[in-house]
Amino acid sequence: MLGTLAQRIANLAFGGGCYLCRGAARGVLCAACDADLPRLAGPACPRCALPSQDGALCGRCLARPPAYDATVAALAYAFPADVLVQGLKFRGELALAPLLGQALAARLPRGARVDFILPVPLSAVRLRERGFNQALEIARSLAAATGCRLAPQLAERSRETPPQVDLPLDERARNVRGAFSCTQALERAEIAVVDDVMTTGATLDELAATLKRAGAARVVNWVVARTPPPADA
Ligand SMILES: [Zn+2]
Ligand SMILES: [Zn+2]
Repeated sequence: MLGTLAQRIANLAFGGGCYLCRGAARGVLCAACDADLPRLAGPACPRCALPSQDGALCGRCLARPPAYDATVAALAYAFPADVLVQGLKFRGELALAPLLGQALAARLPRGARVDFILPVPLSAVRLRERGFNQALEIARSLAAATGCRLAPQLAERSRETPPQVDLPLDERARNVRGAFSCTQALERAEIAVVDDVMTTGATLDELAATLKRAGAARVVNWVVARTPPPADA
């Protein structure tokens, strides 16, 4: 029944064809395009999800440990995953959110448990412009898949910041400093932070630091797509 509903929504949104190739599809993507998604499978740093030798902590995380404890990423931010992420975020193709959320859920360790699932908050201004928070739409699938509590109200984006994508990599940490605030004490809580794309990790680092100052014991990132390692890594 759920499959039928998802299929009907996809048909409405995409005229019944695969979102990527317009070929015959039962869901959002045809089987061939789904199989072509750039799923991350190789050994990766457990903390930041960048490729690493034998799955050891990478040099960057050793040299400058981020505030978050772990990262799970499902896809490389490469074609066609980038088309899907941008279709959701910038064209409001909400039917893509369950597809991306389910790809991420499939990558989680078996029986993954957290106290709260927190989508990276948008500022009120950005939320009004866009009309939805793509991270929240993705997080709904993760809450459904894990049975963990979706808690988008745990933190707020208290300050409007220029989009990270417009800034050079080395200015992104400064850009997001002080951007978030917690709305409640998080006594020893374990929190999974959900986002669509992780690039430098500056936004996720700042949010994890904010959550830990509010008492969180452990913060893990669940992100759909990870950009390739920066050139200076
Ligand atoms: Zn296709
Ligand atoms: Zn790392």
